[in-house]
Amino acid sequence: MRLTPAYSGSVSADVRSFTLEELQARFEAWGEPVYRVPQLLDWLYVRRATDWDAMTNLPGALRARLRDEFSLRPFDLVRRQGSRDTTQKFLWRLQDHSLVETVLIPANPALCGDDSDRHTLCVSTQVGCAYGCKFCASGLDGWKRNLSPDEIVEQVLAVERWSRSERSASRVDEGTSDDTGLATRRLPPAPPQRLVDNLVVMGMGEPLANYDHVLKALKILNAPWGGGLGARKITLSTSGLAPQIRRLADEPLQFRLAISLHGATDETRGRIMPVNRKYPLAELSAACGYYQAKKGRMITLEYILIAGVNDGLDQIKPLAALARRLHAKVNLIPYNPVEGLPWKRPEEKAQENFLAALEKQRVTATLRHEKGGDIDAACGQLRLKTERELGGAARHG
Ligand code: SAH
Ligand code: SF4
Repeated sequence: MRLTPAYSGSVSADVRSFTLEELQARFEAWGEPVYRVPQLLDWLYVRRATDWDAMTNLPGALRARLRDEFSLRPFDLVRRQGSRDTTQKFLWRLQDHSLVETVLIPANPALCGDDSDRHTLCVSTQVGCAYGCKFCASGLDGWKRNLSPDEIVEQVLAVERWSRSERSASRVDEGTSDDTGLATRRLPPAPPQRLVDNLVVMGMGEPLANYDHVLKALKILNAPWGGGLGARKITLSTSGLAPQIRRLADEPLQFRLAISLHGATDETRGRIMPVNRKYPLAELSAACGYYQAKKGRMITLEYILIAGVNDGLDQIKPLAALARRLHAKVNLIPYNPVEGLPWKRPEEKAQENFLAALEKQRVTATLRHEKGGDIDAACGQLRLKTERELGGAARHG
């Protein structure tokens, strides 16, 4: 039986686009024992193998069949920014030469609401973005395509592979310090560890505009047989697609939800976020209310502070009213300037004033300081810069 390529044109679909149940059905149809499926999943999600031949406990005939029916494509790392212990930005080249970004943040309690996190990973869901928010680098060159489930999953696996190779490189460095080189060979391979504790779907693209692929990827990343990330450790951020927020509320999985608000009146929000014309604040807040009531979970309202655009104190009352109605907390994020765009972050004093005014209205709010703020600079910026440097060559695929 030939697998219909579900996500990628004429190329067979990547095996990491399939759930345990789907793989079991496939194995049964082939007459293969289903106990082989967990073995395969162990290679994919624990050992993060990128080569069928590495899967030595699977019989050769099964490996040949898997190779024939599925693809298994690791990303190419084009560029990386950051040092080992700070925020890392990764730029990947996909099969069709599209570029996407993933960001690894060592610790970012403000973003995820707890202080126990060690590594947060920010993943992209689309190549470009169709929503064209005026301040955002991701939408500047428009939308190119949706990422497939495996392309979302692979962002996590590829970063974990990178981290593992970094760790073993540093172990080798330590091992060779005795000058003989022999110590290096005696070191056992680094045990496969999970690196990512929190996942934020806040990279390039609008996740709820690629709903099915994103949900499938998150299901795989959440599953104990897959990425093993608790749903409560996964935050989805949306620019406010009201119908999809309702749909998400009806899903069984308990993801955290963050809304990119950035303006508390239709006038202010509409000026910087064209999506507000389609789903004005009344509709958005009704959908958020539905989500909150269904899930009983606190929503986060993200609010970038942009000087002279949305940092006026006239926003405080409507913002506080919305936050109170939704039992939401507010994350204030100083704007990260984007090359070629005129927007600036307000002075620190103005940021603090905005925060204090909100708190006075009895709203739970945080102001993200420099360190974590770095993450948003990555939303499409590294890709944009690289594409421009390559003179647009990377855009064709
Ligand atoms: N499309 C989704 C998720 C990706 S954007 C959304 O809009 O929510 C993730 C977050 O980064 C959003 O809150 C977005 O508004 C914010 N963002 C985009 N560009 C930014 C910048 N230059 N500085 C600070 N935050 C930015
Ligand atoms: Fe797209 Fe989100 Fe950027 Fe708006 S903020 S252009 S929705 S990625």
